[in-house]
Amino acid sequence: MGPPDPSETAGSSHPSDEEMLQAVELHLGGSGEASRLIAPGTAELSARPLLDFRIDRRYEKRREGIQRSAPGKKLKHVSKQPSYIHLATHHVPVPSGFAPTQPVVLVLQGSVAEVVCAECKGGRQSCGVCGGSGTQTCPENVKCKACGGGSDACWSCAGTGKRGSRRPSGNAQGKSRTDWCRRCGAHDVACPKCVGNGTVACTVCKGKGHRACDACKGSKRFRHEACNGTGFVTTWTAAEISHPVGADHERDRAPAHLWWPTYRTDGWRKVLLKDVTDELPVDLPEPHRERIAPHLPRKEVEVRRLAVLRYLPVARVTVAADPDWVYFAFPDGPGADGGIKVVRRPARPRMVRLGGIAVAAILIAVLVMVLALQMLD
Ligand SMILES: [Zn+2]
Ligand SMILES: [Zn+2]
Ligand SMILES: [Zn+2]
Ligand SMILES: [Zn+2]
Ligand SMILES: [Zn+2]
Repeated sequence: MGPPDPSETAGSSHPSDEEMLQAVELHLGGSGEASRLIAPGTAELSARPLLDFRIDRRYEKRREGIQRSAPGKKLKHVSKQPSYIHLATHHVPVPSGFAPTQPVVLVLQGSVAEVVCAECKGGRQSCGVCGGSGTQTCPENVKCKACGGGSDACWSCAGTGKRGSRRPSGNAQGKSRTDWCRRCGAHDVACPKCVGNGTVACTVCKGKGHRACDACKGSKRFRHEACNGTGFVTTWTAAEISHPVGADHERDRAPAHLWWPTYRTDGWRKVLLKDVTDELPVDLPEPHRERIAPHLPRKEVEVRRLAVLRYLPVARVTVAADPDWVYFAFPDGPGADGGIKVVRRPARPRMVRLGGIAVAAILIAVLVMVLALQMLD
């Protein structure tokens, strides 16, 4: 540890109200003695401190008794992994920083075993679709695709066997068929594929009524994927030590018109809090102290923290003799001797007038752009 940073010591580095008024007085071109602004009724000062607080925490969570398994005989492989005997006393280093990290996975010593796979025999499982028979039923005959299995099977009996029961349809007239119907015996009327039957023998089973099971292709058993077809499973008990992270924020941001000057200043007071015993600076404004305090107690299973507290005292000053402007004063450098910066902003009525001018300026800019685009066409 080096010498303490002067900005991190507990002493007050807050400029007093008097110093703030003095800075405004100087800004106004006065003597800097603040005598004018301190006099009752000449100026009003109110505190508008800014806050930017962030606390990062790292926790440690331990979970044990996790049942794990892997396909095949992996005893040697699993036994090589980091192991533990008593999880509660097992030490693992807390990861540095506050980025998310992978959990540490441990194997309980002596828990690794290679066991016979209970769900298969020798790495193979009976086919569930055919029940291990290797076959499934299959229709013997199927509808003829040439005639659709309908009345076009035979132009005379329409597949019924009663010759002449059907007049040939309009589009059938003049066409001749070369095969005779096996049902009614008429010549040159039958579908050449099914010869009047409307159905043909199934080509898959060749009319036998059963075929090889679609799922196992007739092999009756499958390779059991869960054990990689080995017939063995390696089991063990595992534990996990994880280090999740979390962050909380508290902010009092600058209003838009003060954002840039307060963002740029070096006057922010910065304090790092690395432990629950670290104390808040004595000059921290009370409202900020109240908002930060609930974040400071140690949370359950918290193992590391880093809180960055940044705050900037800001004084809002109105001067009775100068109602058009509001002045904002804040430290411009670290420590009590860092100087005070003063910026002025239009008071509200003036803002409205300026707002009108801004709208007019935007309208003119849009008109110029439209004209320029028309000239390009
Ligand atoms: Zn198996
Ligand atoms: Zn099968
Ligand atoms: Zn079939
Ligand atoms: Zn026929
Ligand atoms: Zn046919």
